[in-house]
Amino acid sequence: MKDIIPPNNKPSEDGLKMISHCPVCHYSNTAIEAKVLEENDNSHLVYIKCKRCQSAVLALFSSNSFGISSIGVITDFESYEVAKFKNLSRVNNDDVLSVYKHLSENDDFSKVF
Ligand SMILES: [Zn+2]
Repeated sequence: MKDIIPPNNKPSEDGLKMISHCPVCHYSNTAIEAKVLEENDNSHLVYIKCKRCQSAVLALFSSNSFGISSIGVITDFESYEVAKFKNLSRVNNDDVLSVYKHLSENDDFSKVF
């Protein structure tokens, strides 16, 4: 996701388009569901869902001395699932290697879960 408001604090047409258009179906007149999932002093985690195609964007808006910026990912999570998973511990390299080792040593994938 591009910066919504560039550092010179003048909203660009492209930046506003990111909010008004769904990034998946590109429909501009869609009803959007938006929720603030978490907010701190300088950042907001926002969940935005397109009601036309049901795609969602999870965006982190933050501000600092250089201006306001955002990072977003397209997801199929519901907002309650984001809240559920954000509190879980991180998956680290050892976790991935452990799963790989277990899968390569066991033929029956269904027993892993
Ligand atoms: Zn859409």
